[in-house]
Amino acid sequence: MPVRFPAQGKPKAAVLQEMRLARQRDVRWQDGRAFSLVYQAGEDVAGLLKEAYAMFFSENGLSPVAFPSLRKFEAEVVAMSADLLGGAGRTAGSMTSGGTESILTAVYAAREWARLHRPEANPPEMLLPASAHPAFDKAARYFGVRAVRVPVGDDFRADPQAMRAACTPNTVLVVGSAPSYPQGVIDPIPEIAALAQERGILCHVDACVGGFMLPFVRKLGYPVPPFDFSVPGVTSMSADLHKYGYAAKGASVVLYRGRDLRRLAYFVHTDWSGGVYASPALGGTRPGGAIAAAWAVMTYLGEAGYLNLTRTVMQTAEKIRRGVEAIPGLRILGAPAMSVMAVAGENIYAVGDELADRGWHLDRQQFPPSLHLTVHYGHAAVADDFLRDLAAAAQAARRPSLARLRDAALVRAGNALVRLLPERLVSRLMRRAGKLLGAPAGEGEGRTAAMYGMLGTLPNRGDLRELVLDMLEQMSAAE
Ligand SMILES: *Cc1c(COP(=O)(O)O)cnc(C)c1O
Repeated sequence: MPVRFPAQGKPKAAVLQEMRLARQRDVRWQDGRAFSLVYQAGEDVAGLLKEAYAMFFSENGLSPVAFPSLRKFEAEVVAMSADLLGGAGRTAGSMTSGGTESILTAVYAAREWARLHRPEANPPEMLLPASAHPAFDKAARYFGVRAVRVPVGDDFRADPQAMRAACTPNTVLVVGSAPSYPQGVIDPIPEIAALAQERGILCHVDACVGGFMLPFVRKLGYPVPPFDFSVPGVTSMSADLHKYGYAAKGASVVLYRGRDLRRLAYFVHTDWSGGVYASPALGGTRPGGAIAAAWAVMTYLGEAGYLNLTRTVMQTAEKIRRGVEAIPGLRILGAPAMSVMAVAGENIYAVGDELADRGWHLDRQQFPPSLHLTVHYGHAAVADDFLRDLAAAAQAARRPSLARLRDAALVRAGNALVRLLPERLVSRLMRRAGKLLGAPAGEGEGRTAAMYGMLGTLPNRGDLRELVLDMLEQMSAAE
C-alpha cells in the first residue's frame, strides 16, 4: 500500500506510540552498542543539551539581526574553537550543520580563492590522501574541483612525498586529516602545510573527528604531533562539535586563517525581490537549537570537563586496543592517535557478523578489510563486555562453518561471475544483491560477510556505484 498524505491527524499518544515502535529495531546506542554515529558524554550533558536545544528550538540562525542571542553563541563557539586549535585572535570561522558542510564550505572558499589567484588553474585541483573523507569528493563534484587521490603510506598516514609528486600547476589545495576516520592516524600536517606554503596554495586540515579531542589528549600527556593553526601554512580547518565536542547533532565549525578566506566562502545576493540575502555556508535556515546547544556544552564543560571526559575515553580506547591485540588473529591497523581505530584480521567481516549477532554495531571498511571503532565516553561501561564478545566472535569466525564456506564460495563465485557475465546480467545480479543488502535489520543482518567481501573485490567499481544507487532508492521508499 503506497503511503498517502493523511486525511486526518492522529492523537498525540498514538503518534508517539508509533514512533516508539519504529525505533525498536534501531541500534541500541543507549547501551553503548554503536561504535559510530552517536557520541555520548553521559546523562548530565545529554540533559543540558536537550534543555538548551529546546530553549532555542524555534529560533533561526539565518538572521543574526533578529536573534542577537544566536549571533553571540555562534561568534563565541567559533572563537573558543579557534583558541583551542591554535588560532586565537587571527582565525575567522562559521558554524555549520556538520563536518560535510564544513568541508564543502572550505573547498568552496578554496575554489573562489583559485578563481582570484590561480585563474589559469582550470579546473582547479585538490590533493586528497586516500584516507580523506568522501565529503571532499562531494565538494569536488558540487563545485567543479578535480579531486586527486594520493595513496597513503604503509602506516596509513598521508605520504607527503607522493603528494609533492602529484602536485601540478593546477593544484590549489592540499588536504590532511587529524586524525583520518578509517584508521585514526594523524597525517604529517607540518610537511603537507609546508608543501602548500612552498607553492603558495591552500592547506585544509580535516579535524572533524579530532578537533575537540586531540588538544585535550595532548594536555593529558599523550604524544600528539602538531596539526592545527600553530602549523605555518594551514589555512583552514574543520572540526565537528557533534562528535567529540559532545554537542547536539547539526553542529560543526569551519575555521579560516584570516578573514579573507571566510569572506570568499560567504554567499551574498543583493538583487532578490525578497531583499538582500546573505549566508555564511551552504544552508539557509539554520536550527537555533544546534547552535545554542553547542555553546551550552562548551561553556558547561570547559577545558576541565573535556579533560575528564577525554581521560576516560583514552583509558577505554587503550583498554580496547590492548584487548583486541590480545585476541589471536586480530590486530589494530597502524598507530591510532586517539580513540578512533580499525580492527583487521582473518575473516574480519565474519567477525563483524558474529558481533552483530551479539548486538554490536561496527562499520565495515575496505582496502584493507577492517571493522571501525569510534570509542566515546559511553563505552567505558561496556568495554569489558565488548572485548569478551569480540573474543567469542573471533573464535566463532575461525571455526569452520557451513555459512562461512558458503559465504567464501559466494564471494569467489560472485567475483568470477562479475568478470564473465555480460553487463546487463551483472546489473541484474547487482540489483538483486541490493535487495539482499537492503534487507531490514533483524532478518538479513546476520550474514553480510559475503556481500562485503564481494563489494571490496568487485573489479568494476561502476557496478558497485549502481548497486549503491539502487540501495539508496530502495531505502527511500515508504513501506
Ligand atoms: C565525521 C567526519 C566527517 C564528516 O562529518 P559529518 O558530520 O558526518 O558530515 C569528515 N571528516 C572526518 C575525518 C570525519 O570523521
